Amino acid sequence: MTMAETMAKAEEMLRPGRMLIGDQWVAEGSAGEYVHINPSTGKAHPPIPIGGAQEIDQAVNAARAAQPAWWGMPRDARRDTLLRLAALLREHAEELATLTVLDNGSPYILALSGPLAAADYFTYYAGWVDKVGGQVIPTWPAPALDYTLQEPYGVVGVIIPWNVPMHNVGQVIGAALAAGNAVLFKPPELAPFTVLRFGELVLEAGIPPGIVNIVPGGPESGKALVSHPGVDKIHFIGSGATARHIMASAAETLKPVTLELGGKSANLVFADADLQAAAAHAAYRAMGNAGQGCILPTRLFVEDSIYDQFVGMVVGITQSMKVGNPFEEGVMVGPVIDTRACERILGVIERAKSEGAGTLLTGGGRIGGDLKGGYFIEPTIFGDVDHSSDIAQNEIFGPVLSVFRFKDEAEAVALANDTSYGLAGYIQTNDLRRAHRVAAALEAGSIGVNGAGVQIGAPMGGVKQSGFGTMGGRYGLEDFMRPKNIYIPLT
Ligand code: NAD
Repeated sequence: MTMAETMAKAEEMLRPGRMLIGDQWVAEGSAGEYVHINPSTGKAHPPIPIGGAQEIDQAVNAARAAQPAWWGMPRDARRDTLLRLAALLREHAEELATLTVLDNGSPYILALSGPLAAADYFTYYAGWVDKVGGQVIPTWPAPALDYTLQEPYGVVGVIIPWNVPMHNVGQVIGAALAAGNAVLFKPPELAPFTVLRFGELVLEAGIPPGIVNIVPGGPESGKALVSHPGVDKIHFIGSGATARHIMASAAETLKPVTLELGGKSANLVFADADLQAAAAHAAYRAMGNAGQGCILPTRLFVEDSIYDQFVGMVVGITQSMKVGNPFEEGVMVGPVIDTRACERILGVIERAKSEGAGTLLTGGGRIGGDLKGGYFIEPTIFGDVDHSSDIAQNEIFGPVLSVFRFKDEAEAVALANDTSYGLAGYIQTNDLRRAHRVAAALEAGSIGVNGAGVQIGAPMGGVKQSGFGTMGGRYGLEDFMRPKNIYIPLT
């Protein structure tokens, strides 16, 4: 089948877009509608309504009305409801993955990992519901009982980007609901279809109406959500530029915010590493999802003595990657999200070329031919990059890898830390002592040694301008709870 045929078949699954407010599916939004474009073909999808201040207000009211009963529900019942949702996510994983491909052009294999991960997150967080509690605090000098309760915030506003919607749903909404909150979820208009189907499964699982409200939209909807006095906390995943607006707006109502932001993660390859495995990791991880991932290793640092050999291997693997129809088996690189992103990324590449920021080793252009309708960019690598240049310092969020050389461990660590970001870091070495030393020295929230993987029970969060607060594991659950202290004198 051609890409047009595969896409047309998948698009039969699309339904008219709606918003979920309480138990109502709302077909019209006060902020108008948005015509979503399939990034693989450039073809328009049915319009979706965009929520404005009016729908945000209605959704806040629905959430506030529903939350006390959700928090008051017997814990085994809340646990079992979340487990039912996990089972539905597993059952509908292929359908959700297909919608994700239509939403954002992710290669199907990656799109499928989203609902499966979300199912695992919901299962994991359901398991905490009847286990998480407070503490008894040692007291002095007089006898007393002092203990804490872990309470939910109430109504949590969740704003996510478009690149891995179901991973974010599992990480954030799974934890927020397990902690006893209601959620007002604002997915971006750029990827609405998967999460709206998720909303249907939420109700089918028996989660009470109003506990999850879904209002797709852009910046205006997001602003209305952040400034609403009925929202108790914001969990934001997106860019640092937007995060600055969010913090400023949240300051007006003194709302706590968790910020999960971008990265420019360093991948340090030492001469003693397993070079074949390290080269595959360097190429596939950097270009996966067309480079549109927050934790991707987009700065590659290679020890001088192996630089030419190793970079040649990475370029070779990159050139062999299948780019194209995200539904086609073996395709690892799909399109970028939209025409604006495509032009922006091509502009970054052109400027790097004209300013001599590095040597173009492969790629560098838009892909035409059968793919010309979509937003496909060749996987691109620049070698010997100037570390002060734009492609070294700023997140590109496209299939562009910048390579640097280093002389020794100290220089590698200094260069890796010479960035305003601090989301992830990667180390390729067979020297155990070095692995631990460098892992401790890197300024980043997560480190991968000779590989990478996001564990459900592990915390994920940034340092420096990659944000603050945590998703994943017990840390991610506690991010949605606050302790209340109770003191009783016993004399
Ligand atoms: P973005 O900041 O443009 O948008 C993110 C979300 O914020 C969208 O839903 C958008 O509609 C909303 N928004 C925009 N302006 C707003 C405003 N003024 N007030 C409230 N909401 C507003 O980011 P993007 O381009 O959609 O996503 C890419 C960014 O997300 C990258 O920087 C990437 O690294 C980051 N990201 C981080 C993580 C993480 O876990 N740290 C995960 C995925 C993506």
